[in-house]
Amino acid sequence: MQNMLRTIPAVDQILSEAQADPGLSAYPRPILVEAIRTAVQAIRMEMLAGHSADIAVPSLLYAVKKILLQQTTMNLKRIINATGVIIHTNLGRAPFSLRAKAAVDGVLEGYSTVEFDLQHGVRGERNSLVESKLCALTGAEAALVVNNNAAAVMLVLSSLAKEQEVIISRGQLVEIGGSFRIPEVLRQSGARLVEVGTTNRTNLADYEQAISGQTAAIMKVHTSNYRIIGFVSQPEEKQLTDLARQHGIVSINDLGSGTLLPMNVNGYQEKTVQEAVKEGFDIVTFSGDKLLGGGQAGIIVGKEKYLKKMKANHLLRALRMDKLCLAALEGTLLDYLIGFPAIDIPVQAMLRRETEELRQQAMDFAKRLAPLIELGWKVDTIELESWTGGGAFPAVELRSYGLRLCAIQVGLSASQLEKYFRNWTIPIIARVHNDEVVIDVRCLLDSDEEEIIAACQQAGKEMNK
Ligand SMILES: *Cc1c(COP(=O)(O)O)cnc(C)c1O
Repeated sequence: MQNMLRTIPAVDQILSEAQADPGLSAYPRPILVEAIRTAVQAIRMEMLAGHSADIAVPSLLYAVKKILLQQTTMNLKRIINATGVIIHTNLGRAPFSLRAKAAVDGVLEGYSTVEFDLQHGVRGERNSLVESKLCALTGAEAALVVNNNAAAVMLVLSSLAKEQEVIISRGQLVEIGGSFRIPEVLRQSGARLVEVGTTNRTNLADYEQAISGQTAAIMKVHTSNYRIIGFVSQPEEKQLTDLARQHGIVSINDLGSGTLLPMNVNGYQEKTVQEAVKEGFDIVTFSGDKLLGGGQAGIIVGKEKYLKKMKANHLLRALRMDKLCLAALEGTLLDYLIGFPAIDIPVQAMLRRETEELRQQAMDFAKRLAPLIELGWKVDTIELESWTGGGAFPAVELRSYGLRLCAIQVGLSASQLEKYFRNWTIPIIARVHNDEVVIDVRCLLDSDEEEIIAACQQAGKEMNK
């Protein structure tokens, strides 16, 4: 074995060959050396595993080129969302509106007013860029923005309930995913959780009996990704906030998605932020990149006296938003203030698309793909269920339409085609169902159909070779 390993050319030898290779010579030496080491290591592992390995210098250089190509292309890139899930955490949640995009573009180059007060020529507060806009839109006294909603909840609890108790219904001990679990977040913030009621039923009296000298707050958490049905009950929001006020404790509502526009899907309604404020919650928290439709952000709105404590919390420095997300948020808030949010904000528009319109789009799309049928593909329209995602309208289906593609006749299985799509220049993320690749048209943007058509044509060509 040692003898075999010794046959691998030395790194120095490969390096001098690489430096003479026009495809490799432009890379900085340390990057090149590292890639060569990686390639050599891979060969050693192959040999140690008892496999044969090609150790000719040209093959090694080819392996080095592949490593460098992978390392020097962007991993974070645009993709096409053909899943039908509007707010997909794995796919970057909300796509930006034109105003949000322009706002980000506006500060990409050069310096910006992120913490500069233009009027007085002195240091400013980044939060003040959006605070009055958020207050105008939600009806709250004060607002504070942080990195994401998880950070918002953390900051709220750390500022208002450290070493004190927070009462939460057992039906609302949510896990959002990505290891955001309400009991854990509470523990991390230094607050103590007091669970009340049962999974399906919690009464006002349960909350009332749990209040003690140790209680800092009552917290309601939106059950973002599940719904409990059947024999269920929860007190009215107004009753909760009244109870908190009577006992001099804080009422908190983690809305999760937090929409500013009223919206009804199949008879289900998400509470708006304005409603939660009106119901009397002292603090309301929600995400910037879920139903609001902007960039990543955690938004806290509520009573000035509580927000003041959060603004003074040292934790805020670690949770603060960066200028690009702030720009996206402010641009999106402009959509709500002076635009047509139901049309201008992509996630809001996608959520509102009519089934008939989606059916028509799917039919037109199928027609454009009809030439594939002559090549042996199957192309059909299909009725689908798509989802809002992003912690809104849990378990509520949206009637949608799309295409199902089958290229088995031309030698491409569904999983091969799905993989081909995934590796396309602009990766196309689609589902596989019943040995067919399914494309939901709900979340496709303007140029996406062109890309999908191009990918299908190219896949067909490659199979015909
Ligand atoms: C999504 C969600 C969060 C976390 O928000 P992020 O912006 O993803 O950090 C917290 N609470 C609830 C109820 C949620 O739905």
